[in-house]
Order: sequence, then C-alpha cells, then structure tokens
Amino acid sequence: MSYVDQVYDWVVEKNPYEKEFHQAVKEVLESLTPAIDRHPEFIKQKLLERLVEPERIIIFRVPWMDDSGEIHVNKGYRVQFNSAIGPYKGGIRFHPSVYLGIIKFLGFEQIFKNSLTGLPMGGGKGGSDFDPKGKSDNEVMRFCQIFMQELFRHIGQFTDVPAGDIGVGGREIGYMYGQYRKIRNNFTGVLTGKGIEWGGSLVRPEATGYGSTYFAKEMLKVRNHDIKGKVVTISGSGNVAQYTAEKVIELGGKVVTLSDSNGFIYDPNGITAEKLDYVMELKNVRRGRIKEYAEKYNVDYYPDKRPWEIKCDVAFPSATQNEINKHDAKTLVDNGCIAVCEGANMPSTPDAIEIFLENNIAFGPGKASNAGGVATSGLEMSQNSLRLSWTREEVDKRLHEIMVNIHQTAFQTAAKYGSSGNYVVGANIAGFLKVARAMLAQGLL
Ligand code: NDP
Repeated sequence: MSYVDQVYDWVVEKNPYEKEFHQAVKEVLESLTPAIDRHPEFIKQKLLERLVEPERIIIFRVPWMDDSGEIHVNKGYRVQFNSAIGPYKGGIRFHPSVYLGIIKFLGFEQIFKNSLTGLPMGGGKGGSDFDPKGKSDNEVMRFCQIFMQELFRHIGQFTDVPAGDIGVGGREIGYMYGQYRKIRNNFTGVLTGKGIEWGGSLVRPEATGYGSTYFAKEMLKVRNHDIKGKVVTISGSGNVAQYTAEKVIELGGKVVTLSDSNGFIYDPNGITAEKLDYVMELKNVRRGRIKEYAEKYNVDYYPDKRPWEIKCDVAFPSATQNEINKHDAKTLVDNGCIAVCEGANMPSTPDAIEIFLENNIAFGPGKASNAGGVATSGLEMSQNSLRLSWTREEVDKRLHEIMVNIHQTAFQTAAKYGSSGNYVVGANIAGFLKVARAMLAQGLL
C-alpha cells in the first residue's frame, strides 16, 4: 500500500463519521503522490500524518434566548488547523448541517487555499449548527454575542483571524466584532469582512465572486475563449453567487440561473444588472426566497432542483458542498459546457470531477478559484496593520493580480508534475509544498 493510501486509511480509522473531511483529505492526498515521490523526507518526517491532524480543535456551548424567552443551545466550533505560514485564517459558517466533519473539511482545504494566495496565512475554520434563517435581527445579535463570548479567548490579530462563510455576512461579523471589541477593550483587525467604516476593506464583499470570475477568465483564455457572450449558470444566491453574477454580467456574459436551498430560477433572457439589484435587496435586506424572482420577472422556477440541467457554456457552483454529482456532471458535459469554476468549497463530488477531467472540461477547483475572498481578507489585514485604507481600484487590482498568479501557479505546477491542464493537481501540490517546507523548517511541533 502506498504512503498516501496508508495515511488516508489512518484518517478514516481515527476520525470515523467525518465523511466530508475524508472526502477532502482523499482528494488532496491522491493528487500529492508525484510530489511525495520527489520528497522522500516527507515520508520519513511523517509530514502527511502531521498535516491531516489539526493543531487545535475548540468546541463550545452557545446558549441563547429567542424573542419569546425560550432558551436554545447550539454547538460552536473553531478548528485551528495549521499555522506554519501565518496566523490561522478562515471563515465562520452558521448552518444547521454544521458538525465537526464539515468544519474540518473546510479548515483542511483552507490550508492549501491560503498558501496559494501567496499571503502569509495559515488555515482554520469555525462555525455553529445555528440556523440564522427565520431569526430576528435581535436573535442573531444575541447568538453572535454569546458565540464570541467564548471564541474571543482563542483568536487575535496574530493568532487566528476569522471571517464570514455560509450564514455569516456583514450583519453577523458586525455583531461578533462589537462583542470582541467590548470584551477585549481593543480595536484590532481580529475579524475580516468588517464594515467599511470600522476597519473593513473595499471589495471584500465582492472578492470571492469577482475572484472566481477572474479565475474562469484565465482558464478560458488558455483555451482561446472569453466570458463575453457565454451563457453562464450559477447556483446559490448568497454572497459568492451575487458577486459572481455581477462580474460575469460586467464582462459581457449572460447569467441565466440562480438558486437557493428551495430551488432555482431560469431566466433565459439573462439576469441584468437591474434584476441583480433586486436579488441583492431580496436576499440581503428582506432575506426572502429566490422563488420571488420568478414571480416578479415571470420566469420559470424549479422547486427542489439544482440548475445543472440548463444548457450553459460555463457553470459556477457557488452554493455549498457536493451540489454537483456524477449525473449533473454528465448533463453539463452533454449540454456542451466548456468550463466549471467552483465558487463554493468542494461543490463537485469526486466522481463529478473525474467526469470533468476525462472530458477535458476546464475545471477550477474551489481551493484555487474561490481564493479571492480570503486573499482580500489578507489585504484587509494588511490595511488594518498599516492603519490605512486602499482605494477600490487598488484592492481590485491586487485581487486580480492574485487570481492571475494563482491560475498561473496551478497551471504551471500541474505541467511540472505531469498533469498538464489539471488544476486540481496543480493547486494541491503548489499549496502543499510551501506549507510542507515551512513545517519541516520549523521542526517537530
Ligand atoms: P451565503 O450564506 O451568502 O449563501 C449561500 C447560498 O447557498 C444561499 O443561496 C443558500 O441558500 C445556498 N445554500 C446553502 N446551503 C445549501 C444547501 N445545502 N443546498 C442548496 N443551497 C444551499 O454563503 P456564501 O455565498 O458566502 O458561500 C457559498 C459557498 O462559497 C460556500 O461553500 C462557502 O464555503 C464558499 N466560499 C465563501 C467565501 C466567502 O467569502 N463568503 C469564500 C470562499 C468560499 P439558502 O439561503 O436557502 O440557505
């Protein structure tokens, strides 16, 4: 049995039931084989065994009171996975599906993603099984305050800098930051995704979606294509989906779908900038369902379905993990899709990825293609340290450069290790090598 297989089996044995974590580890380890073959010292130093075990896991109780006075108890998590190249960095997810296996998969992916950005950030992730959907602002505020009442002692601008993720946007970051500042009596850049008046960076809300679009543009360029004129399907209608749609529309693509966990809308004429404004108000202010778009603009709504049956040139899965299965991947290929760019984390199942690669689809794995969010969080940290704010143009220019670099690094690394055009191999190996070298240099910790 190979070293990589041995480590994978060990992970499964030691962490039963954490199936998303197993999936993320398997995908990374399998693609590292050519790099491990060139570095026997990694085997001797048990580097992979060290890499798959988080440096620290914090699990805590979050009791809170709803508006009617009833008490609820949720679980809070922070997985501080790897700090070899910088402070732990990664979002916080509030969603009822959250358990340790989800947070570990996200934290593990984050190590390589953050390394790929070229910025000094380690990997971490956190969250809760709290569902902000249907809760009042006051309930969300009380929950965030109690969550931070425990988390504050484990984070800090040089230790661990959380951000948003599913269910955690500007509102939640605001309530958590306020509580941190109050408890610590300290105004520092301990969270990213902050409001612009209180230490946030311009372009941070847009960054994951814009970055994903920049990455897709680079993949298409290699194949002599452009986003302009392409029919684009997007899943989700949250932060990543909204700003992917905004940038695709700006670059001349035609976005025809958006979704939420209840279904998707299909607008064959294309979602215009004006219609997108409606979606942003619907989702970010009124917190309504995407179905209302279909009613307003008289287009079809498909309940309990994902948008992958709609014919497109480029697909941006931007909602959640495992939202494209083998069947969806086949449908996309049969319908002539030429590129799939992951805005979400691990939205494609392993057998879906296999189908994309077998069929020579330009496939951007989330680790590379959605790294623009954390990269701009890194830029927010830099601005906080400098006590300066860069202009919108400056931040967007840096984000664009970072995405072009990530594409180039993943593309060149894939070629160097004998898998030309395979961004999964390229991104995983490039992200891994930097962290592996840092871990070895710093000794057995
Ligand atoms: P949001 O909470 O803003 O939006 C999530 C969207 O996905 C919503 O439309 C939501 O629908 C939908 N969704 C969530 N869970 C499911 C599900 N189980 N099935 C179907 N639809 C679902 O989150 P983000 O846009 O921030 O995050 C989306 C993805 O992008 C996640 O995978 C996240 O990890 C990843 N990501 C986010 C980054 C960021 O900067 N925000 C950075 C890098 C990656 P509903 O409202 O019905 O729940």
